[in-house]
Amino acid sequence: MGVIHENTSSVLAHQAGEIAEKLPGGATLARSVEMLVAWGRANSLWPLLYGTSCCAIEMMCTGASRHDWARFGVEVARASARQADLIILAGTIVEKMGDNLLTLYEQMPGPKYIIAMGSCTITGGPFYYDSYSVIKGADRLVPVDVFIPGCPPRPEALFYGIMQLQEKIKKEGREIPWEIGELVNTPFIDTFTETQQDWDALEKKKDEELAEAKKQFKRDNPDYKPPKPARVKKAKLPSPTRKRVANQGISNWTLLQTLQKKFPGLTVHDHPDATPKEVAELGTDVPLDLVVPKEQYREVVQYLKDSKELGLEMLIQLTCVDWKEYFDVVVHLLSVEDGHKLFLRCRVEKDEDGAEIETISDLYPAADWHEREVYDMFGVRFTNHPDLRRMYLKENFPGHPLCKDFKDSSRVIVRPY
Ligand code: SF4
Repeated sequence: MGVIHENTSSVLAHQAGEIAEKLPGGATLARSVEMLVAWGRANSLWPLLYGTSCCAIEMMCTGASRHDWARFGVEVARASARQADLIILAGTIVEKMGDNLLTLYEQMPGPKYIIAMGSCTITGGPFYYDSYSVIKGADRLVPVDVFIPGCPPRPEALFYGIMQLQEKIKKEGREIPWEIGELVNTPFIDTFTETQQDWDALEKKKDEELAEAKKQFKRDNPDYKPPKPARVKKAKLPSPTRKRVANQGISNWTLLQTLQKKFPGLTVHDHPDATPKEVAELGTDVPLDLVVPKEQYREVVQYLKDSKELGLEMLIQLTCVDWKEYFDVVVHLLSVEDGHKLFLRCRVEKDEDGAEIETISDLYPAADWHEREVYDMFGVRFTNHPDLRRMYLKENFPGHPLCKDFKDSSRVIVRPY
């Protein structure tokens, strides 16, 4: 009963109802059959496996033994859209997965239903402001039948949503046929700013009333002096004793000295004239942060990778910082054996198409993925990268969203504070 194709069974039921109504007692029979079909449909919903973030955990919990949604007939979660008649949207929906969600919805035979579970699905939730990728409401993509607020809603709330949907389905028949709901296409409303303006007006009114009340009090009590509270003596607390952290691998100063011998152009970030003493004072907890000229970037990385003495064989991360005028490509390396770490940053000037620097993905294979991420988010191109494509966003996404100058009012609602 879970899946009945709209183009066959619904049409047949409709025609059978019309024929039956013409017979004696046929109207009662037709209505009874309609009720039976709707009852069966409502109590055997087959949800598609679809959970995208934390709300999905609550949805799974709803299906598991303690709550057990089988008691409500929502038993057979399907991995195929063709066998499902319900999508429970549980979690954040981002723009890149929007097309896939639409495809899944279209692959489902009707009548089909959607429950939107949690703030992210309903409005974008905590990602409403300043987000370039989160869809601000699932009903901008697919028609939603039931909304369940919460972050996340508990299983009981999901049950209530399912029961509401069942009530809706039970009313369906020839008089109220199932039909695809409306999509929202109104512009985004910045409710925060509206609320803040109302709030500011209330605060202003309150401040004026308070000021007036204070003046009145002074007029009524010209000799009033407020009592002075006695000062509490500040307690002296014993200062905590610090334990020295065990020395981890090669010291910052030795690293610097070794590297500067081979590459004199290397300097410490923000302290180009740092003395050995200053670098030593950084301690073992603070990794060394070195600046490398662009023309030596690959050569230095190659040396760090190959040097047996330094042993920086693992790339923890490759990322980027946008300083408005230029980018810093930052490489974070680790010696797995000895534990010392190193940051290497390289200034990359901006050009019309973003910026360009050589790839290091052939030296550290992990850089392949990180460089694609930097390209996607900042638009930095890595020369000779084997597969430089966007990673999180669609190929036709306009711009690179982590750049300081990225502005797209159709996607991003700027947080007003
Ligand atoms: S509504 Fe809350 S719990 Fe649900 S996906 Fe969003 S952040 Fe996670």
